[in-house]
Amino acid sequence: MSRPSTDFGQAGTDNGEVVVTRLDAAINWVRANSVWPMPMGLACCAIELMGSGGSRFDISRFGMEVMRFSPRQADCMIVAGTVTYKMAGIVRRLYDQMSEPKWVVAMGACASSGGLFRTYSTLQGVDRILPVDVYIAGCPPKPEALLDGMLLLQEKIRKEPSAKMLFRGRGD
Ligand code: SF4
Repeated sequence: MSRPSTDFGQAGTDNGEVVVTRLDAAINWVRANSVWPMPMGLACCAIELMGSGGSRFDISRFGMEVMRFSPRQADCMIVAGTVTYKMAGIVRRLYDQMSEPKWVVAMGACASSGGLFRTYSTLQGVDRILPVDVYIAGCPPKPEALLDGMLLLQEKIRKEPSAKMLFRGRGD
């Protein structure tokens, strides 16, 4: 059973025309509900990632349907598939081109740990080159698993000290 949110409250008037909240809660509410993913489809898991955008699963329920193929317009890289050493540098460069704040989801066994490919050509987990926020198990994970992982990411975003990070480096 979900607990009622304590982030927002009414104040000031009898009919609730004034809403009070914490700056963190307001920023995180906006960020968590408008994640723009960058699909980093590298192998078979990418097909399931594409499926999550279809009407059967409907990722737009969570405000995440705006898949961007430019790193400058995205804030969440979903790494879906086997990361080879040949691609690793390119994945890292695209991540570096995304602006802050940004998050990373490792979708499937290959992206999380190299999966069944314990070979000289395969990176044993994308967390060797990127800070991963959420790992999703499966080979491949179904679209439901991706949505579950994205809900976990939303929970993580809601707990971030966003206001502090916003003013960091401005003499605070
Ligand atoms: S985890 Fe399985 S389905 Fe996903 S990329 Fe690796 S081999 Fe393919």
